[in-house]
Amino acid sequence: MADLTHWIDGKHVQGKSGRFADVFNPATGEVQARVPLASKAELDAAVASAAAAQPAWAATNPQRRARVMMEFVRLLNRDMDKLAEALSKEHGKTFPDAKGDVQRGLEVIEFCIGAPQLLKGDFTDGAGPGIDMYSMRQPLGVAAGITPFNFPAMIPLWKMGPALACGNAFILKPSERDPSVPLMLAELAQEAGLPDGVLQVVNGDKEAVDAILDNETIQAIGFVGSTPIAQYIYGRGCSNGKRVQCFGGAKNHMIVMPDADIDQAADALVGAGYGAAGERCMAISVAVPVGKETADRLIEALVPRVERLRVGPWNDESSDYGPVVTAAARENIMRLVQSGIDAGAKLVVDGRDMKAPQGYDQGFWVGPHLFDDVTPDMEIYRKEIFGPVLSTVRAGSYDEALKLAMDHEYGNGTAIFTRDGDAARDFAARVNVGMIGINVPIPVPLAYHTFGGWKKSGFGDLNQHGPDAFRFYTRTKTVTSRWPSGIKEGGEFNFKAME
Ligand code: NAD
Repeated sequence: MADLTHWIDGKHVQGKSGRFADVFNPATGEVQARVPLASKAELDAAVASAAAAQPAWAATNPQRRARVMMEFVRLLNRDMDKLAEALSKEHGKTFPDAKGDVQRGLEVIEFCIGAPQLLKGDFTDGAGPGIDMYSMRQPLGVAAGITPFNFPAMIPLWKMGPALACGNAFILKPSERDPSVPLMLAELAQEAGLPDGVLQVVNGDKEAVDAILDNETIQAIGFVGSTPIAQYIYGRGCSNGKRVQCFGGAKNHMIVMPDADIDQAADALVGAGYGAAGERCMAISVAVPVGKETADRLIEALVPRVERLRVGPWNDESSDYGPVVTAAARENIMRLVQSGIDAGAKLVVDGRDMKAPQGYDQGFWVGPHLFDDVTPDMEIYRKEIFGPVLSTVRAGSYDEALKLAMDHEYGNGTAIFTRDGDAARDFAARVNVGMIGINVPIPVPLAYHTFGGWKKSGFGDLNQHGPDAFRFYTRTKTVTSRWPSGIKEGGEFNFKAME
């Protein structure tokens, strides 16, 4: 069993705290590595050396920094399969899905190649007599990212790419469940030409996170994870005077209108509800068919599709999704399934008796579950389950469906399936959710747009990636400049003796 490390000043560094967490292979249930959990002193030392490395990186012109990003993209593509395999072994998601995780991250690095253009300031020529005014975007210094287990390549890349391209040093505190890929990303960034010390990967748990929140050198924190932790980090980070953006949990609704193509909607729901075992912040976890007939047709179309899903290990090409991340995650999902049954929801596909794939008896498997007749007062509706469990809430009308999505405390993503442009347009305009799909079940914006939820799914005022990230990781300095008349007004050009 391997002991993992931190990545400090361009090298793998053993943990010194004596504290470790187990890293599992969720398909076999075995502990495959231990990850060191940094102490406050280790975190503070990593920040101090990042701060020492940052000024030279900030002084490297943006085009050169962009070339590092360019090379980083090439290396991520070169090592795609290696990264995806390591990712699948710690997270459990299937190999193609793991490649998607890396791909969606590297697309943000591609966007960061545009740093010279994105960092250009504004200029007003002649703001007053002989006065010019210009603003520039300067890096913050040292920024930090705290990331979740469910996208161990994509989200660290979303955080580190823009922060580094803007000229900051970056401290990444990845999830302790799947820390290997973030360490591999740091190795690749170094190979791409990133100077040592500019990117530090500090593994850890609450102790390292609290040290980030209280460290006076760190200027900004980007967090992605569950809502209670997002709210905690936002509160403590902001009260310590930092710039903080936190993205939290979700309960994404998909409205199915009576005129929708039911087969298309059912296919979309199966992919969006059960892909990656439902462990996606943009997973659809609530289907909202409008009208009894739509609901009956939708359930009829869903049942055989859900029953056909194949749950298996990452390297079995026939697996639709893999195990969930830990035994504790499985227990939590099963407890919530039971609470749905107890509350009177109808379990139309029961995944509880799923047999583990042969040879994987100890894996953290959860079969696919489909609930019908879920009501808004039920715990399975209010809570994020983060597992392969789709709840159907029947709505009597479009307005009732819209109200469900609006009244839920989460507001990450939502979708509407319809052939009616008017309904789709009205939904997109009115719903209080950050990312909307129209006949698209997982509306994850591409790298050059921004990603962010509303309500309890997002804290802070700027989104992740896209142009917002370049605003988040820089601050604006505005210069008002007037030059008194100089040598052009009758300057003396002759060599004169001192008077
Ligand atoms: P999590 O909140 O348990 O952990 C996220 C990070 O916070 C990890 O790095 C972890 O070490 C740290 N952390 C955990 N407990 C802490 C504590 N008590 N104090 C300080 N730090 C702590 O989340 P997770 O289980 O890794 O990820 C799943 C969650 O992330 C889901 O809720 C999912 O919806 C959400 N998520 C949101 C988005 C988004 O963009 N909105 C994207 C991906 C995942």
